[in-house]
Amino acid sequence: MTRVLIIEDDTQLLKALRINLSARGYQVLTAADGATALATASRNPPDLAVIDLGLPDMHGVAIVEGLRGWSTAPIIVLSARHAEADKVDALDAGADDYITKPFGMDELLARIRATLRRSAPPTGVPTVHTESFTIDLAAKRATTSAGDVRLTPTEWHLLEVLVRHPDRLITQKDLLREVWGPAYDTETNYLRVHLANLRRKLERNPSQPRHLVTEPGIGYRFTP
Ligand code: CA
Repeated sequence: MTRVLIIEDDTQLLKALRINLSARGYQVLTAADGATALATASRNPPDLAVIDLGLPDMHGVAIVEGLRGWSTAPIIVLSARHAEADKVDALDAGADDYITKPFGMDELLARIRATLRRSAPPTGVPTVHTESFTIDLAAKRATTSAGDVRLTPTEWHLLEVLVRHPDRLITQKDLLREVWGPAYDTETNYLRVHLANLRRKLERNPSQPRHLVTEPGIGYRFTP
């Protein structure tokens, strides 16, 4: 049974989450503040945590940091609209994904399933298929219906980081650090330029990308 810890001070929402997750076979632990959450997590280590960023006693980002100190369980944060900086802080602190309030229960359940799937050990599949393109990671080869696509080493590196983590939100800072190095982690214009090139080369409709998706102000996500 997958154990999910939900940390949320809105008691109505907490109740709705508990009912919905229990009904789908999850073992649900709840906490309405940060101190209770950390104590509960250390007694009963969760397989996944859902953390509201706005809590009465401490910031949700501090809980993400606290959990990440000893746990690799996936973390999804709940944040208020227009709290972009908080989301980025939470992702940089080790959260795996976020959902903006208000959200539908189905959306949260889908994110939970996707996040748990991703945290399973990698299957080592070196080829990624989408309806627009195929990436053979082992052979370093990208193809579309038009044939082989030539990518620069930088484009390839960027693409590789994204496609190795399907459906996962990767922050601008993480991408910049991984591809260009820590000194470049604010050069978001690099990402815009190279992502535009990748879309032009790979997406069927580059102006409406379906696979190399921008999360405005936060990062990018590869959707197979
Ligand atoms: Ca709250």
